[in-house]
Amino acid sequence: MANWANIANAGDPRSAAWQAQNLSNVGVGGQNWQVYAPAAQSFQGFLNELAGTGYVPRSSGGYNVRNIAGSDRLSQHSWGNAIDINAATNPHVKNGGGLQTDLPQNVGQLAAKYGLEWGGYWKNPDAMHFEWKGGGNQRGADTPQTENLSPPPLSMAKLMPGIGDLGGGGGYQRAMPFEEGFGPQQFMQGILGGTLKQDMRAAVAKRVLGLFI
Ligand SMILES: [Zn+2]
Repeated sequence: MANWANIANAGDPRSAAWQAQNLSNVGVGGQNWQVYAPAAQSFQGFLNELAGTGYVPRSSGGYNVRNIAGSDRLSQHSWGNAIDINAATNPHVKNGGGLQTDLPQNVGQLAAKYGLEWGGYWKNPDAMHFEWKGGGNQRGADTPQTENLSPPPLSMAKLMPGIGDLGGGGGYQRAMPFEEGFGPQQFMQGILGGTLKQDMRAAVAKRVLGLFI
């Protein structure tokens, strides 16, 4: 379960003030869902694309302050951070009953494009249920996530002018096993965590101190 929303990061949904400030409506095909406003764009984008496949929403469930069944923890629906679609044909199946759904086969990937997790993937599949994972470094629903959205790798030459001569001709880009998405933070972690070659670490640390002091 993604369970992104909690009182610490999204506020207390049981208060009237929270409800007045944090809810928004999305809808498609004559059905409407009341949802957590920061997640509204993601839900709307997903619903539009789902409806575009020809799937017809016949029932909806969104914001609803309640505990997770069998627990004293608030459900993601308490913040409107989850929506349910067509509960009758997409039941929450427990005790090893297996997935039951009439949703399109690729609905999990479709949801993921909009930063949503599909309950159909869970151990006790909840096929009607889609919940927002909090955005993070994902883009909004108008630009669905289709690629690795890590910050672009920063050239070591740019980060540390002159550093290339430490790597024995090839520079750091070639001398070290950088992977895509490797940025300054990972670079520093590399220095501290010892993933750089031993003989380079001292030179790099010296260079970093020289730049930053
Ligand atoms: Zn649900």
